[in-house]
Amino acid sequence: MKTVTIAGTTVPALGMGTWNIGDSSAKRAAEIEALRVGLDAGLTVIDTAEMYGSGRSEKLVGEAIAGRRDEVYLVTKVLPSNASTSGVQRACEASLKRLGTDHVDLYLLHWSGGVPLSDTVEGFERLRDQGKIGAWGVSNFDVDDMENLESVSPDCAANQILYSLEYRGTEFDLLERDREAGVVTMAYSPLGQGGDLLQHPALATIAKRHGAKPAQVALAWVLRQDNMLAIPKAGTAAHQRDNIEGAKLQMTGEDLAELDAAFAPPKRKRHLAML
Ligand code: NDP
Repeated sequence: MKTVTIAGTTVPALGMGTWNIGDSSAKRAAEIEALRVGLDAGLTVIDTAEMYGSGRSEKLVGEAIAGRRDEVYLVTKVLPSNASTSGVQRACEASLKRLGTDHVDLYLLHWSGGVPLSDTVEGFERLRDQGKIGAWGVSNFDVDDMENLESVSPDCAANQILYSLEYRGTEFDLLERDREAGVVTMAYSPLGQGGDLLQHPALATIAKRHGAKPAQVALAWVLRQDNMLAIPKAGTAAHQRDNIEGAKLQMTGEDLAELDAAFAPPKRKRHLAML
């Protein structure tokens, strides 16, 4: 499987998202199994956030990785409303408690809010000095946000953004910019949240050619890019296994041309879309 290196740590380019996980007691066992199937197969990155289910996702992740913390590259996020220097400290400690660990590997600002970035970065750097986070980054930052951030610190390790066949706008500028700055792109909602994208006829045609499934094509397309970590959310072991196989699928020139025809690449600047 492809890998990416985030602030000196190399991880598989396929990670595991967890938005909406932990909200239903009926689905809990299957969601935990899905994460463990991923770990068993060598995936390491798990992405969560204090926002997801008001902490329920972090709690479920904590349960899924209990006794296996060393196998995981753990990512969580602080809300902009908690992103003051002292707020970041409090929020991180609360996340660590829910996750049942003493550190996360990567801590992200979920989106840009009203707190000056310099205050947030100061909070992140204190946490790093304390060993509570390994590295820090951002999410939903467009080119101008990244420029502002760079004027504060060069140490941003990752930018987590919406990137899928349906949302290609960042190919115009942001993806290359982040690559050149050593900032890993984490692609969220790479499967279009399991919606219309996976019903698109172009995906069906390509999937058939490869003996694969549409979701696997959508994922392989995101992962064709260097410097790209994709974090689909699988709520079942079967979906997790499909995603792991999908990450191995090699896109051909013919596949890429057909997908360009169906989902046009950007010809001009588009503002970063977010969910
Ligand atoms: P995804 O594009 O990952 O889609 C998830 C949906 O696809 C679920 O309904 C899931 O169903 C389904 N699915 C997963 N695998 C397959 C498969 N192999 N075949 C068919 N369907 C499949 O959407 P998300 O919005 O969840 O994005 C992924 C992650 O990115 C989030 O979980 C979160 O961690 C992160 N994120 C970050 C944001 C940010 O602002 N930073 C915003 C949004 C997401 P099922 O559950 O049944 O498996």
